[in-house]
Amino acid sequence: MTKSVASLLLLLFISGGTSTALAQKRKIIVDLIVRGGTVVTMDGSRRVIENGGVAVKSGRIVAVDKTAAIDRNYAAREVVNATGKVVIPGLINGHTHVPMTLFRGLADDLDLQEWLNKYIFPAEAKNVTEEFVRVGTRLGLAEMIRGGTTTYCDMYYFEDAIADETFKAGMRGVLGETVIDFAVADNKTNEQAMAYVEKFVSHWKGNALIVPAIAPHAPYTVSEDHLKAVRAFSDRTGAPIVTHISETKREVDDSIKAKGASPIDYLNRIGFLGDRVIAAHVVWPSEEELSLLKKLGVGIVHNPQSNMKLASGVAPVPEMLKDDLPVGLGTDGAASNNDLNLWEEMDTAAKLHKLISRDPKVVNAEQAFEMATIRGARALHLEKEIGSIETGKRADIVIVDLDDLNQTPYYNIYSDLVYATKAADVRTVIIEGRVIMRDRRLLTLNEETIKADARRFRERIIISLGAKTLPEE
Ligand SMILES: [Zn+2]
Repeated sequence: MTKSVASLLLLLFISGGTSTALAQKRKIIVDLIVRGGTVVTMDGSRRVIENGGVAVKSGRIVAVDKTAAIDRNYAAREVVNATGKVVIPGLINGHTHVPMTLFRGLADDLDLQEWLNKYIFPAEAKNVTEEFVRVGTRLGLAEMIRGGTTTYCDMYYFEDAIADETFKAGMRGVLGETVIDFAVADNKTNEQAMAYVEKFVSHWKGNALIVPAIAPHAPYTVSEDHLKAVRAFSDRTGAPIVTHISETKREVDDSIKAKGASPIDYLNRIGFLGDRVIAAHVVWPSEEELSLLKKLGVGIVHNPQSNMKLASGVAPVPEMLKDDLPVGLGTDGAASNNDLNLWEEMDTAAKLHKLISRDPKVVNAEQAFEMATIRGARALHLEKEIGSIETGKRADIVIVDLDDLNQTPYYNIYSDLVYATKAADVRTVIIEGRVIMRDRRLLTLNEETIKADARRFRERIIISLGAKTLPEE
C-alpha cells in the first residue's frame, strides 16, 4: 500500500461511520452530572447560570457551565435532572450542638444564664452518654440534610461519636470536642479532655468529610491557663478552635469586672485569638474589637434566632458585612432555637437587622444567602474547599424546587431563596459528590428509627429531671 492510499484510508476511517463513536470517546467520563437547573454559583462574580450544569468527579466539581456545554464534554453514570429547579451550594450551619436536638423544647423562654444553669447543665449532667450523643446526632443530621445543609460546625461532648455518625451519614462537619472547667459527661478533668482531644484530632485529621477541632466552651467557663493550652494545641496540630465569644451583655460586664477587659480584649491579651478561631455569637463587640477580629482573621458565626430567643442582643452584622468580615450563620443548638433550619436563619438575619437599624437596605437577600454559603465557608476557614459551585471545590450541591406555591411567581433568585423558600422545598442533596438525599428521601439515615430513638430518650430525660409520670407527648 502506498503512503497516499494509507492516508486516504485513515481519513475515510476517521470521517466515516465511526466518527460518532470517536466523539463519544472524547467525552470526559465523570461520576455525576447535575443538568438543566438554574445554577447559583456564589463564585467571585456571583454567576447565575440559567439551564446550567455541574460535572463531578472523585468528590470534586470539575466543570460548571451551560447544560449544553456539559453535555458536549462530559458523560456520567449518574445524572441528576434539575430542570425547573435551582442548584445551590450546600448550606453551612456555622454553629450547633447537634445532640441537643434531644432537649428540643425542654426549657424555653428564659435568659441564657438561667436556661444554662437551671435546666441545660443539670439535664446534661443526668443524661449525656455516648448513646445519647449518637441518637441526638442522627436526629440533627437528618433534619439538617432534609433542609439542604451539607456542612455544620459543632461543639459538644463525645465528639468522636458525633464524627463517626456524621461520617457514616456522609455529611461534612467541623467538629469540636468541648473543653470546660467542670466535670462533664465524657471527661472529668482538663487533663482528660486534652488527652481526648489529642486522640480525637489525630484520628480524624485528613478525613475528606470531618475536620476535627477543639472547642473551649467560653472565656467565662475555661481558665486562662487552659485557654492558652488550647491555643498551643491548635498551633501544634492545625486544628480549628470553636468557641463562644461575647454572647451577652452580662458576659461583657462580668469580664470587665473580673479581668479588667472585655472578652475579646482579654482573649487577645492572652494570645488566644487567631485565624483558626471560629467564634460563635460576637453580639457585643466594640468597633475597635471588630477591626481587631478582622485583622486577626477570626471567623464569626451569627445566630440570629438563638440570640433573639435568649434575648442576648443583636450582633452588629451590617457593620461586619460593610467591613467584609468572615461572618456566617448558625442555628445554635436545637434547645435554643428550636430547629436546625438555615432557611429560617437567612430570613431572620435579613429582617432582624432591618428592624433594629430601621434601615430596610441592610443585609439584603443576596448577603443573607452569602452568609449561609461562601461567607459562612470563610467563617469556618474552609472557603477554598466549600461554599460555592466552582471548579476544584468539593461537590456539596443542593437542588431545590422552585415551583411551590410559596415560591410562585418567581422574579429574583436571591429574593426567592431567602424570603420565600422553605426547608421542605429542598429536593436532592449531594455531599462530596455523593447523593445523600434523592427526591426528599434520605439515603444514609432511617427517619423512622431516628424518631423512635428520640422519643425513647424523651421519656428518660423527663424522669431524670424528677417527674414521676410522663406528660402526654
Ligand atoms: Zn452555642
